[in-house]
Amino acid sequence: MTPLAAVAFAWPLQPVTGFSDYGYHGISNFVDQNLIYPNAILDYDCGARSYDLASGYNHAGTDIFTWPFGWKKMDDGEITIVAAAAGTIVNKADGNFDRSCGLNNDPWNAVYVKHADDSVAWYGHMKSGSLTGKGVGDTVGQGEYLGRVGSSGSSTGPHLHFEVHAPNGSLIDPFNGACNALNPSVSWWQSQPAYYDSALNDLTAGTAPPTFPPCGTAESPNTSDFFLPGSTIVFTAYYRDQLASLGGQNTIYRPYGSIYASWPVPSNAPYYSASYWWHTYTFAPTEPVGVYRYEVVFNGHTYSREFHVDTVLCTPDSCEDGDACTIDTCDPNVGCGRSDAGGVVGIGCLCDDVPAACVGQTIVAKVQKKLSSGCTALAGVDAAPSAAKRQKVIRSAIKRLNKASKAAAAASRGRHAKLSSACGVGLRALIADIVALAHTL
Ligand SMILES: [Zn+2]
Repeated sequence: MTPLAAVAFAWPLQPVTGFSDYGYHGISNFVDQNLIYPNAILDYDCGARSYDLASGYNHAGTDIFTWPFGWKKMDDGEITIVAAAAGTIVNKADGNFDRSCGLNNDPWNAVYVKHADDSVAWYGHMKSGSLTGKGVGDTVGQGEYLGRVGSSGSSTGPHLHFEVHAPNGSLIDPFNGACNALNPSVSWWQSQPAYYDSALNDLTAGTAPPTFPPCGTAESPNTSDFFLPGSTIVFTAYYRDQLASLGGQNTIYRPYGSIYASWPVPSNAPYYSASYWWHTYTFAPTEPVGVYRYEVVFNGHTYSREFHVDTVLCTPDSCEDGDACTIDTCDPNVGCGRSDAGGVVGIGCLCDDVPAACVGQTIVAKVQKKLSSGCTALAGVDAAPSAAKRQKVIRSAIKRLNKASKAAAAASRGRHAKLSSACGVGLRALIADIVALAHTL
């Protein structure tokens, strides 16, 4: 186990309460351990994730940038800089321009905290006017608010420059690794992140791909969770430390669980510190209404986000509970909220339902496939070009539903049942309801 320094850092960034994305940051530059310049780079892990300048500067801190939409996050004040360790504020600078888009000699906004062992941490590039009200000489606890991420001083975009100096003033690299010659074999982190901390920061459904205007202007995510049938929907995933070797898979699940679309996580370089990839689908009007799920499996984790396709365009404001719009709560006069919902709408509601006894069980694929194909056919019945064709769609859908019912019965029988018998009964009752409604179409 790596010995810890006298001062053990917590992570110096925290999202505000209510922030619900999976992640919000990436690391662009570590400390440059190679004192030769220019173009002689060595980070603590013997890689080259740092920079130096011909003027003689070797990057001396860790650059943690906010991603995606760093400028928007800065404007919205979503990400705060907090004290990585307790200490006393020994210096502060505020009031400097905070939308820099390049390296320069301009002053930055920063807070400097001295720890119990006399080591000092610098928190730089802060947003103007965001600094803690505490002054020089005041103490701060670990995790206490210091300011917000900005781009003041010599900076190409919103990020925190976190720099650490030992009690004698010499430079510290908080990361322990084979090429850290500054403080060998010692990590200054309570829990040191992996060199490649590969993860998904966010995944979204939207009306258009995100737009990234020129540096200094807030970006437009163009996201939405609510769509009408027949919509064109853009699915975007935002990665940090994306290694092509990790692969990954995107999947869109229909309300009942069948797969609408699936595609691999793309890449065209071995490594990106930050990347995003989007994919567009135009949903046929015959696709079922309900709550869909966009899922990405990446680096051993499953990330997901729900979106709604409904015959009325829901918004968060149109929902009774104010945040999570579902067909049941969006509008009591339309869709599943109406107790007497019948016809195609009622079928859509039932097809979205999972019997209580089946929650937590993997509904056996054979049942799910037949059920889903029956449901999908019925959802599109109004698109049939003639009365005769319409009857044909209904008859064939009912046939598939009856097969699903038989498969549910078979799967819940016997010693090696794939479903509990209660789930089998629940599924058969549900399917019977769908078939009954199908006869009324
Ligand atoms: Zn930096």
